[in-house]
Amino acid sequence: MATTAGLRDAAAPLEKIPLETYVPPAKPSLIGLSRAELAARLGELGVPERQQKMRVQQLWHWIYFRGAQSFDEMSSVSKDTRTALAARFTVDRPEVVAEQISNDGTRKWLLRLPSGDDLQKAHEVECVYIPETDRGTLCVSSQVGCTLNCAFCHTGTQRLVRNLTAGEIVGQIMVARDRLNDWADRETPLGNRLVTNIVMMGMGEPLYNFDAVRDALLIVSDNEGIGISRRRITLSTSGVVPNIKRAGEEIGVMLAISLHAVRDELRNELVPLNRKYPIAELLQACRDYPGASNARRITFEYVMLKGVNDSLDDARLLVKLLKGIPAKINLIPFNPWPGSAYECSDWEQIEKFSEYVFNAGYSSPVRTPRGRDILAACGQLKSETEKLSARERQALRAMAMTD
Ligand code: SAH
Ligand code: SF4
Repeated sequence: MATTAGLRDAAAPLEKIPLETYVPPAKPSLIGLSRAELAARLGELGVPERQQKMRVQQLWHWIYFRGAQSFDEMSSVSKDTRTALAARFTVDRPEVVAEQISNDGTRKWLLRLPSGDDLQKAHEVECVYIPETDRGTLCVSSQVGCTLNCAFCHTGTQRLVRNLTAGEIVGQIMVARDRLNDWADRETPLGNRLVTNIVMMGMGEPLYNFDAVRDALLIVSDNEGIGISRRRITLSTSGVVPNIKRAGEEIGVMLAISLHAVRDELRNELVPLNRKYPIAELLQACRDYPGASNARRITFEYVMLKGVNDSLDDARLLVKLLKGIPAKINLIPFNPWPGSAYECSDWEQIEKFSEYVFNAGYSSPVRTPRGRDILAACGQLKSETEKLSARERQALRAMAMTD
C-alpha cells in the first residue's frame, strides 16, 4: 500500500532551475503516441508492416510499462531498430525544473514544456502527488493556465494558456513514476505502486482540451502499460456540458463536477461558465452520463466559501437538486492564495453542512487540504507570476464563452 513512509528512495527535492537555461528538445518524444501512431512511425523508419505489431508491443512495454528513459535500455528491440529510433526520436518526458515537498508528504513538481508557437520559449505546469494510507493520487494538469477564470481559483488568474498535448499529459504520470521510483521492476511489484489514482484536477479545464485528454487517459488506463484502471481516474470539469457525454462514451472515467453553488445567480459569479451552461443543463448532462450508477457515482465538488455558499439553505437546495443522480459530495475547504477575495468557511459550518448532506443520504467527505504550505492544494496551482488585469480576465472569459 502507498504510504508516505513507503516512499522508496525517491529523488531528493530539486531547487528550481532558472528559465534562462531552457533548451527546447531537438527531437520529438514518442511519449503520448497510441499504438497506431507508433506503428506509423515505425513504418516511416522502414520497419515492414508484418513486423510492426510485434515491435509496437515491445515499444509499448518498454515505454509505458517499464518506464524506459532511453532506447538503449530496450534490450528486446533489435539493435538496428533502436539506432534508427534514437536518430529520430526520444522517450523524453517534460523537464522537471523544481520539486517541493510539503511537510505532509505531498510533492509538487514544476514541469517545463516548449511553448506551442515560439519553440525557443517555455511554458510551465504543475503536477502534485498526494500520498495517503490506502492510495497515492496524482493530480494532473490539462492546460497551461485556464481560460475560465473561476472567481476563487488561482489558476484562472494566469496569463498564458495553451492546451497540453497527450504526451505532456501522459508525461506527468511518467515523471511522477520516475521521481518516486515507481515503475514495475523487481523491487516494485505491481501491487505495491505509489501512484494508484489519477485526478484531472490540476491546472486547466480538461473538457476544453478533449482530444488530448482522451488520448492520454486511454494510454494511462491501458493495462499493458501504465495500467491505472478507469475507475481510479477522475476527470473534474467546471461544466462543459456538450463534452460530458463524450467523456462518458469515449473515455469512460469517473466524473467530478465543480458545482460550488446551487443558484444560477451565484454560480454565474463563481464559475462564469455557468452563464453558458446553467445548473439545470449541467445536472441533466449528469443524469445522462453514460456509466453513472450507484457503484460509479458522480462526485460533486463544492468549495466552502465563508458567508457565500455555505448556509444550510444552500445544503438543502443542494440535496434537492441532486435528487435522482447517483452522487457523492466532496466539500473542499477553500484554499487561499495571494490576493484571493474569499475566506474559508468556519470549521463548525463545514461540519454542519456536511452533516446535513450526510443525513440526506449522501456521502459528504470534507477534502483534507494537502500541501497548502507549498501552494499545492486545490486551486492554488499557478506557474507564471504574471497576473491578468481585470480587463484581460474579462476578455479571456468572453473568449471561452464563445468557443
Ligand atoms: N478545471 C477543472 C479541474 C481543476 S480544479 C474544474 O474546475 O473542475 C480542481 C477543483 O479545485 C475544482 O473543483 C475547483 O473548483 C477547485 N478549486 C479551485 N480553486 C480552489 C481553491 N482556491 N480552494 C479550493 N478548491 C478550489
Ligand atoms: Fe479553470 Fe477549474 Fe480553476 Fe475554474 S476552477 S479557473 S475551470 S482550473
